[in-house]
Amino acid sequence: MDIAAAARLCFAADYASARTKFRLACETLGVPLRSYENPKRGPAGEALATDVAWIGPADARFVVGMLSGTHGVEGFCGSGAQVDWLLDGGPASLPRDTAVLLVHAVNPFGWAWLSRTTEENVDLNRNWIDFTAPLPDNAGYEELALHLVPSEFEGAARAAADAALAAWRTTRSEEQWFRAVSSGQYRHETGMFFGGRGPTWSRRTEEAIIADHRLGGREAIAIIDMHTGLGPYGYGEPISHMPASSPARARVMRIWGESVTEPARGTSVSTLRTGLTAFGWRDLLGERLAFVTLEFGTFARDQVVEALRGDCWTRAQGLSADDPRQARIRAATRRAFYPDTDSWRELVLFRARQCTRQALAGVGEG
Ligand SMILES: [Zn+2]
Repeated sequence: MDIAAAARLCFAADYASARTKFRLACETLGVPLRSYENPKRGPAGEALATDVAWIGPADARFVVGMLSGTHGVEGFCGSGAQVDWLLDGGPASLPRDTAVLLVHAVNPFGWAWLSRTTEENVDLNRNWIDFTAPLPDNAGYEELALHLVPSEFEGAARAAADAALAAWRTTRSEEQWFRAVSSGQYRHETGMFFGGRGPTWSRRTEEAIIADHRLGGREAIAIIDMHTGLGPYGYGEPISHMPASSPARARVMRIWGESVTEPARGTSVSTLRTGLTAFGWRDLLGERLAFVTLEFGTFARDQVVEALRGDCWTRAQGLSADDPRQARIRAATRRAFYPDTDSWRELVLFRARQCTRQALAGVGEG
C-alpha cells in the first residue's frame, strides 16, 4: 500500500477508534485476538483492554513483537504502524518458522485519558524494577519535585516554580537536567516519571502475555517497543539498553544496524534510566531477546517536558472528563506525543516498515 494512503487510513483519533481499527483489521484477515481487560474505564465510559494478535505458526521458533502504547498517549503512533503492517500484506509474507506478536495498547488507561502514565500514575517504562530490593534514588529529582509539579498550574505559584527550575538549570548541564527529570523516581507518587510501588496492571499483563504466548520457549525474539516524544520530528531512533558485549546486544546491532543508539555510550536522544521495559523483558527472556525502543521524535524537548508537567498536574488534581483546564492540558499532551499531520504519519510508517522488515529478516539469524 502506498505510504501516503496508509498514513491516512491506519491511524485513529482516539483510543476507542484505534482499538476498533486494530480489531477490525485482525478480524478481516482471520487473525485470532486475545484481550486482556483492564478494570478501569475511559473518559467516555468505554472499556479498556490490551489486545494481542498472534500471526504465524503456533510453534514458531522465531518471534517478532511490536508493542504500542507503553506510554499511553504515545499509542497513536505504534497502533498506526501495527494496523499498517496488518493491512500492507505483512501476515502473507512471514519468513519460515517466524510469527509476529502485536500487542496493542499496553497501557490502555493512559492512552484513553491522553496521559503518559498508567491508572496508578506510574511510568510503565520505569516500573520494571525488583520491588523487594531498595528503591533507586534520584537526588536531582528530589531537588526539583515541588517545582516540576506545582500546586497551581497557572498564576504566581506556577511562575515561582518556573523561576526555581530556571535557576537550577543555570548551575547544571542539560544532561544533568534531563537525567534528574526523566531517569525515574520512586518517592513522589503524583510526580513525573514515577516508577511505582509495585508492578502495575500493565506490567503484570505483559508478563501474562509473555507466558501465554510461551515466549520463553522460542529460540529468538525481536521486540520493537514504539514510543514518541524524543528526537527530530518523525525520525524513528532504535535505542538499545542491552548490556555491552552481551550476545543480545550483538543481535540488536546485527538486526537494526548502525542506526541503533545506546544511552550507555552517549549516542542516544535518551539517557540512562531505571526500570525500563527492556530490562524486565530481558530478565524474563535472557539472551534470546533483541529489544529496541523505537523512539519517534515530535517537538523540542522543553515543549514535551512542559506537556508532561501538565499531564502530572491533572493526575495530581484527580482526573475529570469535563474540567476545561484538564481538557486544554490533555490536548497539549496529545499534540506533544502525536503530531496529527500526514507528513509525520508518513515518516513514522516509513521507519516502522523498515525496522519491522529488518527484524523479520534478522530474527532467525545468529
Ligand atoms: Zn515513551
